[in-house]
Amino acid sequence: MTQPATIRPLHSLGMDDLEESLNALVQPSYRAKQIMEWAYDREKRVDSWESMKNLPASLRSALSEIHPIRLPEVVTVSGSQDTTRKLLLRLHDGEFIETVLIPASPALYGEESDRRTLCVSSQVGCAYGCKFCASGLDGWKRHLSADEIVSQVLLAEKISGERINNLVFMGMGEPMANYKNWLQAVSILNAPWGVGLGARKMTVSTSGLVPRIRDLADQPLQIRLAISLHGASDSVRSQIMPVNQKYPVAELMEACTYYSERKKQMITFEYILIEGVNDASSEAKLLAERARGLRAKINLIPYNTVEGLPWKRPSEEVQEEFLSILRDRGIAATIRREKGHDIDAACGQLRRRVSAEIESSNFAA
Ligand code: SAH
Ligand code: SF4
Repeated sequence: MTQPATIRPLHSLGMDDLEESLNALVQPSYRAKQIMEWAYDREKRVDSWESMKNLPASLRSALSEIHPIRLPEVVTVSGSQDTTRKLLLRLHDGEFIETVLIPASPALYGEESDRRTLCVSSQVGCAYGCKFCASGLDGWKRHLSADEIVSQVLLAEKISGERINNLVFMGMGEPMANYKNWLQAVSILNAPWGVGLGARKMTVSTSGLVPRIRDLADQPLQIRLAISLHGASDSVRSQIMPVNQKYPVAELMEACTYYSERKKQMITFEYILIEGVNDASSEAKLLAERARGLRAKINLIPYNTVEGLPWKRPSEEVQEEFLSILRDRGIAATIRREKGHDIDAACGQLRRRVSAEIESSNFAA
């Protein structure tokens, strides 16, 4: 059933949006604050309008029509408390996404032990078709709405009973291609009346959508930027990332410079090491030059094999050699080593496995 355009789920709204709705219903605007408390206060976080006890019943019913609460259903939780937990979520239209909770994640950014990172999805599928990535293999289905992005954090905190203090938009999809909904979700996650997570605790990863990188640079939010580079030259990058034909490396580097100057921030290059594709020492040298100009950090990620794709990671020797070429040139570089081999949690490559799981266990409606 298609819903009228005025229907916006509660968790998609900013405080001002909610105040506007209340004004239209000739209700005092202090109700907006009460409602946001029911939605986001860690002691409350109710999942129905009926639970908002201090609101008149007539108001609850009017608001539930235009601002339904539609938290996804948690279908499965796999993994354990000290390792990575994956939540499989079913959206209102039956689509599935995953959100991945990574405790004390040395695998991502550093060694701090109290870090609880959530890897958040931004779309169902992905249109960018990077050759090595599972998310793009089945193409793009749809954008996630702002509430579907925000819900991932609410549900992960509910299931784990823990507070998430680091977000990486590195799950399924290209956040920058869903810019409007994604940015709305970020502002709710960041807002003091919302989830209250500092923008510096959020990292958005992009395959390099140059105009959106510039747009984000012009936003006041101090969100961190990671670029899925995976190739330092156009010839290598274009082979594995079709987006490079539209936004070649030089243009991407200019947008990164703009971002890093506007935000006074160091950005990160993600670089998957794929045997025989992008692991040559000439590519490492060029990568070092690209990073030096920007004072960017480099995360090397040994490729995780994806069923049905021919790629594999280079030997540890080659990985170390690549790393030392960067370090010898004074570049801050690390290798992201997962706790287990090919841990499923490596974000952005989960969907196929999940779909197969769903098919085999008949989860799909
Ligand atoms: N679309 C965005 C956000 C997804 S992030 C982007 O591409 O940046 C997913 C991250 O996981 C990206 O850096 C992606 O390149 C990486 N990735 C995808 N497939 C992978 C694989 N098989 N092994 C390791 N990393 C992978
Ligand atoms: Fe999409 Fe990112 Fe995967 Fe490329 S790496 S297909 S942009 S999710």
